[in-house]
Amino acid sequence: MSLLTNHVFVLNKDKSFLSMVHPARARKLLTQNKAAVFRTYPFVIILLQQIMNPSLKQYFLKIDPGSQWTGFAIQCGEEIVFRMELKHRGDVIKSDLQKRSGFRRGRRSRNLRYRQERFNKKKKSGWLPPSLMHRVFTVETWIKRFCKFCPIILIEIEQVRFDMQKIANPEISGIEYQQGTLFGYEVREYLLEKWDRECAYCGAKNIQLEVEHIKAKSNGGSDRVSNLTLACHDCNQKKGNMNVDDFLSDKHKLAHILANAQTPLKDAAVVNSTRIHIVDVAKKYNPVNTWTGGRTKMNRVNQNLEKGHSIDAACVGESGSKVIFLTEQPLLVIAFGHGSRQSRRTNDKGFPALVTKKCKNTGRDIVQKDEFGNVKIISPKNEYTHITAGDIVRFEIKKVRSVKSNHIQAVDGKVVVEPKWYTCRVKTPTPQGFEVLIKGGRVGISSMKGAKFAYRADGYEYKFR
Ligand SMILES: [Zn+2]
Repeated sequence: MSLLTNHVFVLNKDKSFLSMVHPARARKLLTQNKAAVFRTYPFVIILLQQIMNPSLKQYFLKIDPGSQWTGFAIQCGEEIVFRMELKHRGDVIKSDLQKRSGFRRGRRSRNLRYRQERFNKKKKSGWLPPSLMHRVFTVETWIKRFCKFCPIILIEIEQVRFDMQKIANPEISGIEYQQGTLFGYEVREYLLEKWDRECAYCGAKNIQLEVEHIKAKSNGGSDRVSNLTLACHDCNQKKGNMNVDDFLSDKHKLAHILANAQTPLKDAAVVNSTRIHIVDVAKKYNPVNTWTGGRTKMNRVNQNLEKGHSIDAACVGESGSKVIFLTEQPLLVIAFGHGSRQSRRTNDKGFPALVTKKCKNTGRDIVQKDEFGNVKIISPKNEYTHITAGDIVRFEIKKVRSVKSNHIQAVDGKVVVEPKWYTCRVKTPTPQGFEVLIKGGRVGISSMKGAKFAYRADGYEYKFR
């Protein structure tokens, strides 16, 4: 059985969008010369003859924003026709900026020159650190792309993990846990956030956690949120209906649990700040409906679906209560950034070490200034000779040659490449060819002969799971 793949975006001859088609239909259109490839990632074809008054289907774009990954799904009726998972690089941005500020601080205190004390300027309201803002920008890029290629009428976003309105002041107003199925999921998400996703008694992480009554129900404990915590299965069983002060010998821990149980979660808004930004941005392109994570989880559990970023996206909102997946593989998109703008790299002590090229080879005219300020324009002869890091190329390895350097061999000495066609992201351009990573090993391709240029670098790597 063949793998079900994402449906294909179709553009009319005037570049206006049409309804998406099954990949088999797209293949037929391409082989019959009725359409041409417009874009590779995501796969978009353009018709060569204009269709007048086309009838358009209605699509929903559904998004589940996360800190590491954001899931996207496009839904038509009950069918999920397209899935994508986007990996963010917030961690890299954060560590890069921390490194830079460390070097800067060291440099300025080392020079001992007098510098007037400077207070940090006040940040504008709505300011987010660059590592988080990057998430907003990349999600916006993809919303923009989908809205350009597909007749989307509504964007549905999981804006909050749990509904604060529904459980406003949960500890004080004494809202109880058993209030319908959806409410149970909202409270669970709230508790997960409040108790740091770990067992309150033993601190176990990344396991199934159960809602646990601090004062057991059989001893008259209430269903109020202030009497609830999370525990692993073992701790929950061990505790049973014991009194919590009998169960916990560590008095310090006991005091912490009791105090935490009484304090409502304060920074729920901060937790959701990126998501709120994403919703604001999405409103520029289409009407937006926002939903809670509790509902997403309920939809996923009710339909017996496994956890996954794009599966969660498909389960967002009321329309996610019943979905049929027409695609088995989500498109994986990994944010790599556009490289560094540093004109002078530093060594590990923060001293200037390496002078980098002033501009990148992009296939377009390159403007260079020499040290006297004279402008020199270099026009590449053809785009194939001017390949840049991040471009995706298709090439054939005909013969595997063993080279002394580890170009064609992995670090452990094993040959990693078989002779066949590859589609790879260029790691480093070399004077005549380029280097790619195959199975973690650096492989040098010595010439551009026979290599096909597939996709111009746009800051992302594309894969299928
Ligand atoms: Zn435990």
